[in-house]
Amino acid sequence: MFKSFLIKYAEIGVKGKNRYIFENALVDNAKRALDKIEGEFQVTKENGRVYAIALSDYDYDEAVDALQHVFGIVGICPMVQIDDNGFDDLADNVVKYIEENYEDKNFTFKVMARRARKNYPMDSMEINAELGGKILDAFPKLHVDVHNPDVILNVEIRNHINIYSKILPGPGGMPVGTAGKGMLLLSGGIDSPVAGWMTAKRGVVVDAVYFHAPPYTSERAKQKVVDLAKIVSKYSGPMNLYVVNFTDIQMYIYDKCPHDELTIIMRRYMMKIAEYFAKQEGAHGLITGESIGQVASQTMQSLAATNEVCTLPVFRPVIAFDKQEIIDVSLKIGSYETSILPYEDCCTTFVAKHPVTKPNINVIKNSEKKLAEEIDRMFDEAVNTAELIKIQ
Ligand code: ATP
Ligand code: MG
Repeated sequence: MFKSFLIKYAEIGVKGKNRYIFENALVDNAKRALDKIEGEFQVTKENGRVYAIALSDYDYDEAVDALQHVFGIVGICPMVQIDDNGFDDLADNVVKYIEENYEDKNFTFKVMARRARKNYPMDSMEINAELGGKILDAFPKLHVDVHNPDVILNVEIRNHINIYSKILPGPGGMPVGTAGKGMLLLSGGIDSPVAGWMTAKRGVVVDAVYFHAPPYTSERAKQKVVDLAKIVSKYSGPMNLYVVNFTDIQMYIYDKCPHDELTIIMRRYMMKIAEYFAKQEGAHGLITGESIGQVASQTMQSLAATNEVCTLPVFRPVIAFDKQEIIDVSLKIGSYETSILPYEDCCTTFVAKHPVTKPNINVIKNSEKKLAEEIDRMFDEAVNTAELIKIQ
């Protein structure tokens, strides 16, 4: 059983003198992920290396899964860490490592030694050659292949000696918390959880707002959004989810405005309300799952009309993705199965047969004038009665 993991990170390695900020965030996030599973772990940073070390029994698959949800990690290497008790002891441990970790001792390999500590009495080339020899003595069916080996046996001489040969993929990206905060408009669909995940992947903390329209949308539809928020938050960390009752505003727009403009006007109010919560949370922008041309409200003209009400920037990570490309990501992150559950969405309830695809902002604004009497009060009521659900 592996007692420790070497955690590899890529991009944050090149952030110059701010590097420690990224490393510390990675360490904190890895700790938080491992805290959620059984067992006790210590996550430490040492000379440009991050380690997760088990201090108790733990479940290997659970630990790997937890680390595979931490952005910033590109590789997870289960490793054996030993003290330096001379070369013979190292060789014994390497042989033991192969004995225990490879059932079928019939593969090609090479040893890749690195000395971070230059006072070790042998240089890397010598270690490679000597260890290779010991391994061949112990397992005569193995062969050395320096160009294209099945197994690369890494031996890192530091204060301790690290032995590892397996690199499990991490999710990549940047540690969450290193790039500001965004407010995600999270619906029950396929696109918005993917948009939230993609933004978090670049280091952004994600909060979310969901508009529901009871009784036109059910408790189950809301629960589905909560479930999607949980799936995203497994990667992005704790999330504040605001659930806004949008029924009155939606009905009011339906009563007063031309039906072919309904979706655009509704979306403009969604953006305004989302921006209200974004500002309250200190977020730096809004995030949506919009993709050009997907529906009438996502032509360039429609997006411009929706965007026009916002003062914060609106980020649309899947803007140029085909639906299938978005689905591929949702399958990868585990949100797809939940997203396709057939519960009604507030937008589909009132949707017009022939919505405008090229809205003119002046025309839209003119229509919105018909809302003057009640809309401010309804806006206030919607934000004041919003339910805050703390995800984790
Ligand atoms: P999704 O885009 O999540 O798959 P969808 O395609 O049904 O759902 P649209 O109605 O096209 O979504 O809306 C585009 C974007 O607007 C969504 O990606 C989401 O960011 C936001 N949005 C739509 N409906 C809601 C809602 N009820 N609550 C919060 N945000 C919403
Ligand atoms: Mg969509």
